[in-house]
Amino acid sequence: MSGWSQALSGFGAGKGESATISGNRALQIEEPLLFEQDAAGRCGVDLPEPPAVSDRLGGLGRKGPIGLPGLSEPQVVRHYTRLSQKNYSIDTGLYPLGSCTMKHNPRLNEKMARLPGFADVHPLQPQSTVQGAIELIDLLAHWLKTLTGMPAVAMSPAAGAHGELCGMMCIRAALDARGESRRRVLVPESAHGTNPATAAACGFTVDPIPADARGRVDLAAMKAKLGPDVAALMLTNPNTCGLFEGEIVEIARAVHEAGAYFYCDGANFNAIVGRVRPADLGIDCMHINLHKTFSTPHGGGGPGSGPVVLAESLARFAPLPWVVHDENGFRLIEEAEGPAAESLGRLKGNHGQMGMFVRALSYMMSHGSDGLRQVSSDAVLSANYLLAALQDELTPAFPGPSMHEVLFDDRFLKDTGVTTLDFAKALIDEGYHPMTMYFPLVVHGALLMEPTETESKDSLDRFIAVVRGLAQRAKAGTAEAFHEAPRFTPRRRLDETAAARKPILRWRPGEREKVAAE
Ligand SMILES: *Cc1c(COP(=O)(O)O)cnc(C)c1O
Repeated sequence: MSGWSQALSGFGAGKGESATISGNRALQIEEPLLFEQDAAGRCGVDLPEPPAVSDRLGGLGRKGPIGLPGLSEPQVVRHYTRLSQKNYSIDTGLYPLGSCTMKHNPRLNEKMARLPGFADVHPLQPQSTVQGAIELIDLLAHWLKTLTGMPAVAMSPAAGAHGELCGMMCIRAALDARGESRRRVLVPESAHGTNPATAAACGFTVDPIPADARGRVDLAAMKAKLGPDVAALMLTNPNTCGLFEGEIVEIARAVHEAGAYFYCDGANFNAIVGRVRPADLGIDCMHINLHKTFSTPHGGGGPGSGPVVLAESLARFAPLPWVVHDENGFRLIEEAEGPAAESLGRLKGNHGQMGMFVRALSYMMSHGSDGLRQVSSDAVLSANYLLAALQDELTPAFPGPSMHEVLFDDRFLKDTGVTTLDFAKALIDEGYHPMTMYFPLVVHGALLMEPTETESKDSLDRFIAVVRGLAQRAKAGTAEAFHEAPRFTPRRRLDETAAARKPILRWRPGEREKVAAE
C-alpha cells in the first residue's frame, strides 16, 4: 500500500455516516508524514549529473541511499501549510492557559524584529559594527531595572526556567563566597514545577511550605522552617492561585533575618507591571518571562527569554556577557576577569535571545510607562470579570477577588461523572484552547484561567457563555458526551500517559500500521 492509502484507510477515515471518501473533513486534511509521501526519485530541484570525480574519502563514501523522502516542492509546501493550519494559537482565538500569559503579540514588534539592522547581524561580528544592537540590549536592561527597581539584570537566560537556574546559581555562588554551605530551599506547594526542579538541579534540597486556607503562603509555617541551613525561599507573586501574597514584605524580612536569599518567580509579572516594583518587596532576584509579560511569541510561536533582575548582593555573579558603555561606545565583557571576575561565566551561547529583546523593547516603548500600568490593570480586570461571571456556575477555589488569573476547583463537577480533563476536552470542541488544568496542585482538579488584557469584552462574553453552558450540561447528566470529547478534532482523545511515556519519535517503514493496530 502506498503511504497515502495507508493513511486513508488506517488512521484518518471517520467511521459511519461521518466518513468521507478521502478521510478528510473539509479543511481538516489528513496529513501523512513526509516520509510516508516518499516517491523514489521525486525531487524539488533539477540538477545536472555531477562530473565523475575521484573522492578523497578513502573508501568511507556513502554506499546506500541517504533515506530522505523524495518529494516535490508543492508537496512540501502543502504539508507544512496544512500542519500550520492544525495549530491553535493566540492568532486564532482566546487562549486561556493560566500562568502562561497568552496575550496578543503586536505586529509592530514583528516589524521591528525584522529590521535588517537587527535581523541580519551576526553575534560574532566585531562589536564596533553592531553598536545599535548592543545599545538595544542595554536599553531593554534599563527598562527592566526601572520596572523592577533592581540594580542589575542578567539578559542571557533563554526562558523562565533558565532564568531560575541563573538566579539560583547566583545564590549558590553568593553562599560559596560567604563560605556557607546552606542547602535547604523553601518552596510553596503551589509553586510551578520548575521551582523545585531548579533548586534540585543546583544541588539544594527542597522543603515544601503549605498554603493557608486563603491560598497564600502560611507565614507561621514558613517562619518555622527558617534556619541556618536555609539558602533561599522561592516564591511566586502573584502566586499560581492568581493571588497576591500580601505578607510578602514580612516574608522577605524573615528570610533575610535568617541569612537566606529571596528568589521570586516573576512569571506572573503581568499582574503587577507598572504598579509594583519587586525591589520594594525585598526580592533579591527574579526572572522575567519576556514571552509572557512583554508579549513575545511563545507556545510554539517562538523561543522564550528569561532575563533575571538581581540585587546588589548577587549582581557580581551574573553570567556573561555584561554590557558596559563608556565614551568609546558600547562593549560586551565576555571574560570572567576584571570587574566580572566573580561571574558564573556563560549560561548560553552569544548574548541572549536577540529577536525577543527587540520585540520586548518595541512592546515597552509602544506602550510607554502609562501603557504598561494599563496592561496590568486590564489584565486583572479581565480575570475578575471572568470570576464574577462564572462564580455561581463554577466553584472558585478561594474567596475574594483575584489578580490576573482565576482559579476554580472541581467541586462544581461533583457527582456529575465529568472530570476537569473531560471539561477541558469539551472546550476543544468549542474551539478554545483549554485552560490550565490540575495545576496548581493545592486545590483538587484545578482549572486555572488567564484571559489577559488583550481580549475584548465581546470575546470574554463568548468564552463565558461557552464555559457556563458546558458546566450546565455537565450538571444535567451528560457525562457520556464529555467522555467522548473532543469529537471534532483530527484525532480524538489520546492516551496521554502512553504519549508521554512511550513517545514514538522516530519514523520507521511500516511502523504506523503496527501502532494503529495496537
Ligand atoms: C511559565 C512559568 C515558568 C517557566 O517559564 P518558561 O519560560 O516556560 O521556562 C515558571 N514559573 C511560572 C509560575 C510560570 O508560569
